[in-house]
Amino acid sequence: MKIAVIGKGGREHALVKALKESPSAPEMYCFPGSDAINRLATPIPARDLPSLIDWMVSNKMDLCVAGEESYLVKDEGLANACSRAGIPCWGPVKESAQLEASKEFAKDFLLRHRIPTGQARVAATLEEARQFIGNNYPTVLKFDGLAAGKGVAVCMSKEEADSFLKEVFTDRRFGEGRLLVEEFLTGPEVSIFGALVDDHYLILCPARDYKRLKEGDAGPNTGGMGAVASRRLVEPEMMERIEKEIVAPTVAGLKKDGLPYRGFLYFGLMLTPNGPKVIEYNCRFGDPECQAVMPLLSGDLASFCLHGAKGEFAPEEISFQNGWSVCCVLASKGYPETSHSGDAIQGLDDISNASVYHAGTKWNADKNCYETNGGRVLAVVAQGDTLSEARQRAHNEIKKIQFHGMQRRPDIGFASFV
Ligand code: AMP
Repeated sequence: MKIAVIGKGGREHALVKALKESPSAPEMYCFPGSDAINRLATPIPARDLPSLIDWMVSNKMDLCVAGEESYLVKDEGLANACSRAGIPCWGPVKESAQLEASKEFAKDFLLRHRIPTGQARVAATLEEARQFIGNNYPTVLKFDGLAAGKGVAVCMSKEEADSFLKEVFTDRRFGEGRLLVEEFLTGPEVSIFGALVDDHYLILCPARDYKRLKEGDAGPNTGGMGAVASRRLVEPEMMERIEKEIVAPTVAGLKKDGLPYRGFLYFGLMLTPNGPKVIEYNCRFGDPECQAVMPLLSGDLASFCLHGAKGEFAPEEISFQNGWSVCCVLASKGYPETSHSGDAIQGLDDISNASVYHAGTKWNADKNCYETNGGRVLAVVAQGDTLSEARQRAHNEIKKIQFHGMQRRPDIGFASFV
C-alpha cells in the first residue's frame, strides 16, 4: 500500500509514523513534508495541488491522508481533486470542510441541527461588531475564516475588544471577512475526535490541549503548548452525553445537508454548567493533540483510513490503549509573536523514553544537527499507566533537550488541569 500524507508539521510527523508502523506496512510519501518527516517518508516533488495530484496518479498512490486543513479548502479542494483523479482520500471534500473554514457556516450548521453551542451574531463592519458587543464583557470575537489559530480573541474588556477589532477591520490582518461576536462560555475544554465514514463514526481517544503560552494558563494564545490524552480523561456519563448531544447529531446533520464526510473530525468542546457545547469544528486532527493520541493507538491505522476513504467503515481495525499520554511542546524564542530560526538543538539522540515529533526544525548538514525553524519546534510525548507516570517521563526527557531561547510549559499534565 502506498500512502501520501499532506502537511509538514508535528501532527503530520505523528501521522506518518503511526501509518508507517501499521501492520499493513505501507510505503509512506509526504508533501510538502519536512526534513524529519523525510526520514520516514519519501518527499513528493510537487509545487501545487494539480502537480501533487498528477504525481499521486503517476506513482499509483492507494490513499491520500489530509493532515493540514489549508489543502482541504484551497483551490478545488484536496479531497475533491483526489476524487476526480480516482484516489481515495482520508479528509473531507471542500463543501464539508467549510465546517472549519467558515465560523459562520459552522455556527449556522450547529444552530440548524440544534447542537449545543454559544449564541452568536455575525458582524460585517466595525460599527456592527461594536453594536453587537454592547457592554457585554467578557465577549468572544471570531474571524470568519482560516487564521492559523490566531483568529479568535476572548476579550475581558472594551480595550481588548477594540484592539482585536482594529486587527480585523482596520489592519485586515486576516484578509477580508466577517466577524462572529459570540457568547462567552465557561468550563473545562476537551477535544473529541471522530473518524467519520459517511453516516458512520468512531469516537477516538479524547484529549485536552494547553493553548496559552505560560504556566497556569497565562500569556497569549498559541497553536498549542502541549496536550494530555487518555480514554479516561472524560467520565463515561459525560462521554455518552457528548455522543448523544453532539457527535451523533453532527453526523446526522452532515447527511441531512448532503455533505459527504470521510476523515477525522475534531470537536472543540466546553463542558459548561449547562452541558457540553461546541466551540469549534476542525476538519482534521488537532495539533498537538494528534502527537499525544497517536502513541496510544493500536491496530492498523493505515488499513482503517484506506477502508474509510473508500466508504467502508472498519472500526474493529483500531483501538486505544488504556493509559495516559502527555505531550509537551518546545517553542522557539519569541513565539508566538515571532519565532527564531537557526538555533542548534542539542540532546535529541539522548531521548530514550519518549517520542519526539518535529514541527519547526531543519536539518543542518554542515553542523550535523537539527536546528530551530519555526515557532513550535518539537513535541516530546511520553506514556504511562497513570497520568503522573506519563507526565514525569515526558518532563524528565525534556530536560535532555536544549536550544537557545527554548520555551515550554512546566505544568503540562498536572492533575489540577485535568
Ligand atoms: P477556537 O480557535 O475557536 O478553538 O478558540 C480558541 C480558544 O478560545 C478556545 O480554545 C477557547 O479557550 C476560547 N473560546 C472560544 N470560544 C469561546 C467561547 N464561546 N467562550 C469562551 N471561550 C471561548
